Amino acid sequence: MIFGAENFDAHEQVVFFHDQDSGLKAIVAVHSTALGPAAGGCRMWPYATEAQALTDVLRLSRGMSFKNAMAGLSFGGGKSVIIGDARREKSEGLLRAFGRAVGSLNGRYITAEDVGITEADVGILAQETQYVSGRKQVGAAAGGNPAPKTAFGVFQGMRAAIELKLQRKDFAGLTVAVQGIGQVGYHLCRLLHKEGVSLVVADVNTDSVARAAAEFGARVVTPEEVLFVKADIVAPCALGAILTPDSVARLQTSIIAGAANNQLATDAVGETLKNHGILYAPDYVINSGGIINVSLEYAGGHDEKEAWTKVARIYETTHMVLERAMNEQRAPNAVADEMAKNLIAAARSAGRGGKAAA
Ligand code: NAD
Repeated sequence: MIFGAENFDAHEQVVFFHDQDSGLKAIVAVHSTALGPAAGGCRMWPYATEAQALTDVLRLSRGMSFKNAMAGLSFGGGKSVIIGDARREKSEGLLRAFGRAVGSLNGRYITAEDVGITEADVGILAQETQYVSGRKQVGAAAGGNPAPKTAFGVFQGMRAAIELKLQRKDFAGLTVAVQGIGQVGYHLCRLLHKEGVSLVVADVNTDSVARAAAEFGARVVTPEEVLFVKADIVAPCALGAILTPDSVARLQTSIIAGAANNQLATDAVGETLKNHGILYAPDYVINSGGIINVSLEYAGGHDEKEAWTKVARIYETTHMVLERAMNEQRAPNAVADEMAKNLIAAARSAGRGGKAAA
Protein backbone atom coordinates (compact mmCIF):
# COMPACT_ATOMS: atom_id res chain seq x y z
CA MET A 1 0.00 0.00 0.00
CA ILE A 2 1.44 3.37 -1.00
CA PHE A 3 -1.28 6.00 -1.33
CA GLY A 4 -2.77 4.99 2.02
CA ALA A 5 0.58 4.58 3.76
CA GLU A 6 0.90 6.58 6.98
CA ASN A 7 3.85 8.61 5.72
CA PHE A 8 2.59 9.16 2.18
CA ASP A 9 2.46 12.92 1.71
CA ALA A 10 1.44 13.53 -1.91
CA HIS A 11 4.75 12.07 -3.14
CA GLU A 12 4.97 12.46 -6.91
CA GLN A 13 6.55 9.08 -7.58
CA VAL A 14 7.65 5.98 -5.66
CA VAL A 15 9.56 3.37 -7.64
CA PHE A 16 10.64 -0.13 -6.57
CA PHE A 17 13.74 -1.56 -8.25
CA HIS A 18 14.90 -5.16 -8.28
CA ASP A 19 17.94 -6.69 -9.96
CA GLN A 20 18.08 -10.45 -9.91
CA ASP A 21 21.81 -10.85 -10.62
CA SER A 22 23.11 -8.53 -7.90
CA GLY A 23 20.21 -8.97 -5.45
CA LEU A 24 19.43 -5.24 -5.48
CA LYS A 25 16.21 -4.29 -3.74
CA ALA A 26 15.78 -0.54 -3.70
CA ILE A 27 13.07 2.08 -3.42
CA VAL A 28 13.35 5.59 -4.85
CA ALA A 29 10.86 8.19 -3.61
CA VAL A 30 10.44 11.48 -5.45
CA HIS A 31 8.53 13.68 -3.04
CA SER A 32 8.48 16.93 -4.99
CA THR A 33 10.05 18.39 -8.13
CA ALA A 34 8.42 21.81 -7.66
CA LEU A 35 11.75 23.54 -7.03
CA GLY A 36 13.79 21.36 -9.41
CA PRO A 37 14.94 17.76 -9.79
CA ALA A 38 14.46 15.71 -6.62
CA ALA A 39 17.80 15.45 -4.82
CA GLY A 40 18.72 13.33 -1.82
CA GLY A 41 21.13 10.60 -0.88
CA CYS A 42 20.90 6.84 -0.94
CA ARG A 43 20.81 4.90 2.35
CA MET A 44 21.75 1.22 2.55
CA TRP A 45 20.29 -0.36 5.67
CA PRO A 46 19.24 -3.87 6.74
CA TYR A 47 15.56 -3.00 7.23
CA ALA A 48 13.72 -5.78 9.06
CA THR A 49 10.70 -5.41 6.77
CA GLU A 50 9.91 -3.81 3.41
CA ALA A 51 7.30 -1.69 5.18
CA GLN A 52 10.06 -0.15 7.32
CA ALA A 53 12.12 0.63 4.22
CA LEU A 54 9.09 2.27 2.61
CA THR A 55 8.36 4.32 5.72
CA ASP A 56 11.97 5.50 5.84
CA VAL A 57 12.14 6.51 2.18
CA LEU A 58 8.78 8.32 2.32
CA ARG A 59 9.80 10.28 5.43
CA LEU A 60 13.32 10.99 4.27
CA SER A 61 12.27 12.21 0.81
CA ARG A 62 9.72 14.61 2.28
CA GLY A 63 12.43 15.85 4.61
CA MET A 64 14.67 16.46 1.59
CA SER A 65 11.99 18.62 -0.06
CA PHE A 66 11.86 20.76 3.07
CA LYS A 67 15.64 20.75 3.54
CA ASN A 68 16.40 21.79 -0.03
CA ALA A 69 13.73 24.50 0.05
CA MET A 70 15.03 25.96 3.33
CA ALA A 71 18.61 25.86 2.06
CA GLY A 72 17.52 27.95 -0.93
CA LEU A 73 18.47 25.29 -3.46
CA SER A 74 16.92 24.75 -6.90
CA PHE A 75 16.21 21.17 -5.98
CA GLY A 76 13.11 19.26 -5.08
CA GLY A 77 13.19 16.41 -2.58
CA GLY A 78 13.87 12.73 -3.10
CA LYS A 79 15.64 9.86 -1.40
CA SER A 80 16.45 6.23 -2.02
CA VAL A 81 16.97 3.20 0.17
CA ILE A 82 18.71 -0.05 -0.65
CA ILE A 83 17.54 -2.92 1.55
CA GLY A 84 20.58 -4.81 2.84
CA ASP A 85 23.56 -4.81 5.16
CA ALA A 86 26.20 -2.49 3.65
CA ARG A 87 29.03 -4.44 5.33
CA ARG A 88 27.99 -7.83 3.94
CA GLU A 89 25.75 -7.32 0.94
CA LYS A 90 27.18 -4.32 -0.90
CA SER A 91 28.95 -5.25 -4.14
CA GLU A 92 30.06 -3.46 -7.26
CA GLY A 93 27.33 -5.29 -9.19
CA LEU A 94 24.67 -4.10 -6.75
CA LEU A 95 25.91 -0.50 -6.88
CA ARG A 96 26.04 -0.57 -10.67
CA ALA A 97 22.49 -1.95 -10.82
CA PHE A 98 21.39 0.87 -8.50
CA GLY A 99 23.21 3.42 -10.71
CA ARG A 100 21.29 2.13 -13.73
CA ALA A 101 18.04 2.33 -11.76
CA VAL A 102 18.72 6.00 -10.95
CA GLY A 103 19.63 6.64 -14.61
CA SER A 104 16.31 5.17 -15.74
CA LEU A 105 14.51 8.06 -14.03
CA ASN A 106 16.17 10.44 -16.51
CA GLY A 107 17.13 13.11 -14.03
CA ARG A 108 13.93 13.39 -12.02
CA TYR A 109 16.03 12.07 -9.10
CA ILE A 110 19.68 12.85 -8.29
CA THR A 111 21.38 10.60 -5.76
CA ALA A 112 24.36 10.97 -3.41
CA GLU A 113 25.72 9.22 -0.32
CA ASP A 114 23.92 8.64 2.96
CA VAL A 115 24.31 6.05 5.72
CA GLY A 116 25.93 2.89 4.31
CA ILE A 117 27.08 4.53 1.06
CA THR A 118 30.59 5.97 0.75
CA GLU A 119 32.35 8.37 -1.59
CA ALA A 120 33.97 5.35 -3.30
CA ASP A 121 30.51 3.84 -3.85
CA VAL A 122 29.35 7.11 -5.41
CA GLY A 123 32.26 6.77 -7.84
CA ILE A 124 30.85 3.39 -8.94
CA LEU A 125 27.31 4.80 -9.31
CA ALA A 126 28.77 7.57 -11.48
CA GLN A 127 30.00 4.96 -13.95
CA GLU A 128 26.36 4.08 -14.64
CA THR A 129 24.54 7.41 -14.34
CA GLN A 130 25.21 11.13 -14.59
CA TYR A 131 22.50 11.84 -12.00
CA VAL A 132 24.77 11.47 -9.00
CA SER A 133 26.74 13.86 -6.82
CA GLY A 134 29.17 13.61 -3.90
CA ARG A 135 32.02 12.27 -6.01
CA LYS A 136 35.67 12.49 -5.06
CA GLN A 137 36.82 16.10 -4.95
CA VAL A 138 39.02 17.33 -7.80
CA GLY A 139 41.36 20.27 -6.99
CA ALA A 140 39.61 23.28 -5.44
CA ALA A 141 36.18 22.43 -6.89
CA ALA A 142 33.22 21.84 -4.59
CA GLY A 143 32.75 18.13 -4.06
CA GLY A 144 33.88 15.14 -2.07
CA ASN A 145 32.51 13.69 1.14
CA PRO A 146 29.79 16.09 2.35
CA ALA A 147 30.11 15.13 6.05
CA PRO A 148 32.55 17.93 7.08
CA LYS A 149 30.20 20.53 5.55
CA THR A 150 27.21 18.92 7.26
CA ALA A 151 29.04 19.11 10.59
CA PHE A 152 29.94 22.76 9.96
CA GLY A 153 26.29 23.53 9.21
CA VAL A 154 25.12 21.82 12.41
CA PHE A 155 27.70 23.87 14.29
CA GLN A 156 26.24 27.05 12.75
CA GLY A 157 22.75 25.95 13.80
CA MET A 158 24.03 25.38 17.34
CA ARG A 159 25.49 28.91 17.35
CA ALA A 160 22.03 30.35 16.64
CA ALA A 161 20.47 28.09 19.29
CA ILE A 162 22.88 28.99 22.11
CA GLU A 163 22.51 32.66 21.27
CA LEU A 164 18.72 32.54 21.56
CA LYS A 165 18.34 29.98 24.36
CA LEU A 166 21.43 30.53 26.51
CA GLN A 167 22.21 34.14 25.52
CA ARG A 168 25.72 32.96 24.59
CA LYS A 169 27.88 34.10 21.70
CA ASP A 170 30.53 31.43 22.27
CA PHE A 171 30.71 27.79 23.28
CA ALA A 172 33.53 27.89 25.84
CA GLY A 173 32.69 25.81 28.92
CA LEU A 174 29.48 24.32 27.50
CA THR A 175 28.81 20.57 27.54
CA VAL A 176 27.58 18.87 24.38
CA ALA A 177 26.50 15.23 24.21
CA VAL A 178 26.91 13.66 20.77
CA GLN A 179 25.06 10.47 19.86
CA GLY A 180 26.89 8.74 16.99
CA ILE A 181 30.54 9.53 16.25
CA GLY A 182 30.39 8.63 12.57
CA GLN A 183 31.40 10.84 9.69
CA VAL A 184 29.38 13.89 10.78
CA GLY A 185 29.61 13.28 14.53
CA TYR A 186 33.40 13.12 14.40
CA HIS A 187 33.78 16.40 12.50
CA LEU A 188 31.24 18.07 14.78
CA CYS A 189 33.23 16.97 17.86
CA ARG A 190 36.38 18.40 16.29
CA LEU A 191 34.73 21.82 15.74
CA LEU A 192 33.23 21.88 19.25
CA HIS A 193 36.47 20.75 20.90
CA LYS A 194 38.28 23.68 19.25
CA GLU A 195 35.72 26.02 20.87
CA GLY A 196 36.41 24.69 24.37
CA VAL A 197 33.37 22.43 24.68
CA SER A 198 33.31 19.44 27.06
CA LEU A 199 32.16 16.48 25.01
CA VAL A 200 30.15 13.44 26.05
CA VAL A 201 30.00 10.80 23.32
CA ALA A 202 28.47 7.43 22.55
CA ASP A 203 28.49 5.08 19.60
CA VAL A 204 27.78 1.39 19.07
CA ASN A 205 31.19 1.30 17.39
CA THR A 206 33.76 1.25 20.21
CA ASP A 207 36.64 2.34 17.93
CA SER A 208 34.81 5.58 17.10
CA VAL A 209 34.32 6.57 20.73
CA ALA A 210 37.88 5.57 21.65
CA ARG A 211 39.13 7.94 18.94
CA ALA A 212 36.95 10.79 20.23
CA ALA A 213 38.17 10.16 23.78
CA ALA A 214 41.81 10.18 22.67
CA GLU A 215 41.61 13.18 20.33
CA PHE A 216 39.13 15.41 22.15
CA GLY A 217 39.19 14.19 25.74
CA ALA A 218 35.54 13.21 25.35
CA ARG A 219 33.76 11.35 28.15
CA VAL A 220 32.36 8.09 26.84
CA VAL A 221 28.92 6.89 27.91
CA THR A 222 26.74 4.06 26.63
CA PRO A 223 24.42 4.50 23.62
CA GLU A 224 21.49 4.04 26.03
CA GLU A 225 22.64 6.91 28.26
CA VAL A 226 23.86 9.57 25.88
CA LEU A 227 20.59 11.37 25.15
CA PHE A 228 19.82 11.66 28.85
CA VAL A 229 23.06 13.04 30.31
CA LYS A 230 23.11 16.55 31.75
CA ALA A 231 24.29 18.75 28.88
CA ASP A 232 23.70 22.19 27.39
CA ILE A 233 23.14 20.65 23.96
CA VAL A 234 22.32 17.11 22.87
CA ALA A 235 23.32 16.39 19.28
CA PRO A 236 21.71 13.29 17.74
CA CYS A 237 24.05 12.25 14.91
CA ALA A 238 23.12 8.59 14.45
CA LEU A 239 19.66 7.53 13.33
CA GLY A 240 16.17 9.02 13.34
CA ALA A 241 13.00 8.81 15.47
CA ILE A 242 14.93 9.00 18.75
CA LEU A 243 12.76 11.79 20.14
CA THR A 244 9.50 10.36 21.48
CA PRO A 245 7.23 11.58 24.30
CA ASP A 246 9.00 9.08 26.61
CA SER A 247 12.56 10.02 25.65
CA VAL A 248 11.79 13.76 25.79
CA ALA A 249 10.54 13.36 29.37
CA ARG A 250 13.98 12.00 30.35
CA LEU A 251 16.10 14.69 28.64
CA GLN A 252 18.31 16.91 30.79
CA THR A 253 19.27 19.47 28.18
CA SER A 254 17.94 22.80 26.99
CA ILE A 255 18.82 22.41 23.29
CA ILE A 256 18.57 19.60 20.75
CA ALA A 257 20.67 20.25 17.65
CA GLY A 258 22.14 17.41 15.61
CA ALA A 259 22.68 16.00 12.15
CA ALA A 260 20.43 12.94 12.14
CA ASN A 261 17.47 13.08 9.79
CA ASN A 262 13.93 12.73 11.18
CA GLN A 263 14.88 13.01 14.84
CA LEU A 264 11.25 13.54 15.87
CA ALA A 265 9.33 10.25 15.95
CA THR A 266 6.26 12.30 15.00
CA ASP A 267 5.79 16.01 14.26
CA ALA A 268 3.84 16.34 17.52
CA VAL A 269 7.02 15.62 19.53
CA GLY A 270 8.20 19.11 18.50
CA GLU A 271 5.38 20.51 20.64
CA THR A 272 6.33 18.16 23.50
CA LEU A 273 9.90 19.49 23.40
CA LYS A 274 8.62 23.07 23.48
CA ASN A 275 6.40 22.26 26.47
CA HIS A 276 9.47 20.87 28.29
CA GLY A 277 11.32 24.14 27.62
CA ILE A 278 13.76 22.48 25.21
CA LEU A 279 14.71 24.39 22.07
CA TYR A 280 14.75 22.08 19.06
CA ALA A 281 16.79 23.21 16.05
CA PRO A 282 14.92 21.44 13.21
CA ASP A 283 17.14 18.71 11.80
CA TYR A 284 16.71 19.53 8.13
CA VAL A 285 17.36 23.24 8.69
CA ILE A 286 20.76 22.63 10.30
CA ASN A 287 21.95 19.48 8.49
CA SER A 288 21.79 20.87 4.95
CA GLY A 289 25.55 21.55 4.69
CA GLY A 290 26.12 18.32 2.81
CA ILE A 291 23.38 18.87 0.26
CA ILE A 292 24.52 22.47 -0.26
CA ASN A 293 27.97 21.09 -1.12
CA VAL A 294 26.46 18.40 -3.31
CA SER A 295 24.33 20.97 -5.17
CA LEU A 296 27.33 23.18 -5.95
CA GLU A 297 29.30 20.16 -7.12
CA TYR A 298 26.40 19.03 -9.30
CA ALA A 299 25.99 22.46 -10.86
CA GLY A 300 29.74 22.54 -11.61
CA GLY A 301 32.02 25.58 -11.79
CA HIS A 302 31.89 26.29 -8.05
CA ASP A 303 34.77 26.18 -5.65
CA GLU A 304 35.25 24.87 -2.15
CA LYS A 305 35.34 28.36 -0.61
CA GLU A 306 31.92 29.20 -2.00
CA ALA A 307 30.55 25.99 -0.47
CA TRP A 308 31.81 26.88 3.04
CA THR A 309 30.39 30.41 2.70
CA LYS A 310 27.00 29.11 1.65
CA VAL A 311 26.93 26.53 4.46
CA ALA A 312 27.79 29.24 7.01
CA ARG A 313 24.43 30.90 6.17
CA ILE A 314 22.71 28.07 8.05
CA TYR A 315 23.33 30.27 11.09
CA GLU A 316 21.01 33.01 9.72
CA THR A 317 18.33 30.57 8.57
CA THR A 318 18.30 28.75 11.93
CA HIS A 319 18.23 32.05 13.81
CA MET A 320 15.24 33.19 11.75
CA VAL A 321 13.29 29.95 12.35
CA LEU A 322 14.07 29.75 16.08
CA GLU A 323 13.40 33.42 16.73
CA ARG A 324 10.05 33.25 14.97
CA ALA A 325 9.14 30.09 16.89
CA MET A 326 10.04 31.70 20.22
CA ASN A 327 8.16 34.93 19.40
CA GLU A 328 5.06 33.07 18.24
CA GLN A 329 5.36 30.42 20.99
CA ARG A 330 5.27 27.65 18.42
CA ALA A 331 7.38 24.54 17.93
CA PRO A 332 10.36 25.32 15.63
CA ASN A 333 9.67 22.27 13.45
CA ALA A 334 6.14 23.56 12.79
CA VAL A 335 7.53 26.97 11.82
CA ALA A 336 10.17 25.45 9.52
CA ASP A 337 7.66 23.07 7.89
CA GLU A 338 5.33 25.97 7.19
CA MET A 339 8.12 28.07 5.66
CA ALA A 340 9.31 25.16 3.50
CA LYS A 341 5.79 24.29 2.33
CA ASN A 342 5.19 27.93 1.38
CA LEU A 343 8.40 28.00 -0.69
CA ILE A 344 7.42 24.77 -2.47
CA ALA A 345 3.83 25.93 -3.08
CA ALA A 346 5.05 29.25 -4.48
CA ALA A 347 7.39 27.42 -6.88
CA ARG A 348 4.61 25.07 -7.94
CA SER A 349 2.20 27.89 -8.68
CA ALA A 350 4.96 29.77 -10.53
CA GLY A 351 5.24 26.67 -12.76
CA ARG A 352 8.80 25.69 -11.93
CA GLY A 353 7.79 22.11 -11.23
CA GLY A 354 8.30 18.88 -13.15
CA LYS A 355 11.81 19.74 -14.29
CA ALA A 356 14.32 16.97 -14.77
CA ALA A 357 18.04 17.57 -14.34
CA ALA A 358 19.93 18.58 -17.47
P1 NAD B 1 27.67 7.42 9.77
O1 NAD B 1 27.09 6.11 9.40
O2 NAD B 1 29.05 7.76 9.37
O3 NAD B 1 27.58 7.63 11.36
C1 NAD B 1 26.53 7.18 12.15
C2 NAD B 1 27.16 6.69 13.44
O4 NAD B 1 26.12 6.39 14.36
C3 NAD B 1 28.00 5.42 13.26
O5 NAD B 1 29.28 5.62 13.83
C4 NAD B 1 27.19 4.36 13.99
O6 NAD B 1 27.99 3.36 14.56
C5 NAD B 1 26.49 5.19 15.04
N1 NAD B 1 25.30 4.58 15.62
C6 NAD B 1 24.38 3.77 15.04
N2 NAD B 1 23.44 3.42 15.93
C7 NAD B 1 23.78 4.02 17.10
C8 NAD B 1 23.19 4.06 18.39
N3 NAD B 1 22.07 3.39 18.67
N4 NAD B 1 23.79 4.79 19.35
C9 NAD B 1 24.92 5.47 19.09
N5 NAD B 1 25.54 5.47 17.89
C10 NAD B 1 24.96 4.76 16.90
O7 NAD B 1 26.62 8.52 9.23
P2 NAD B 1 26.86 10.08 9.07
O8 NAD B 1 27.16 10.36 7.66
O9 NAD B 1 27.77 10.57 10.13
O10 NAD B 1 25.39 10.62 9.34
C11 NAD B 1 24.86 10.66 10.64
C12 NAD B 1 23.40 11.12 10.58
O11 NAD B 1 23.33 12.40 9.97
C13 NAD B 1 22.48 10.22 9.75
O12 NAD B 1 21.20 10.24 10.31
C14 NAD B 1 22.45 10.89 8.40
O13 NAD B 1 21.27 10.61 7.68
C15 NAD B 1 22.49 12.35 8.82
N6 NAD B 1 23.03 13.23 7.80
C16 NAD B 1 24.28 13.02 7.29
C17 NAD B 1 24.77 13.85 6.30
C18 NAD B 1 26.16 13.69 5.74
O14 NAD B 1 26.66 14.61 5.09
N7 NAD B 1 26.82 12.56 5.95
C19 NAD B 1 23.99 14.93 5.86
C20 NAD B 1 22.73 15.13 6.42
C21 NAD B 1 22.26 14.28 7.39
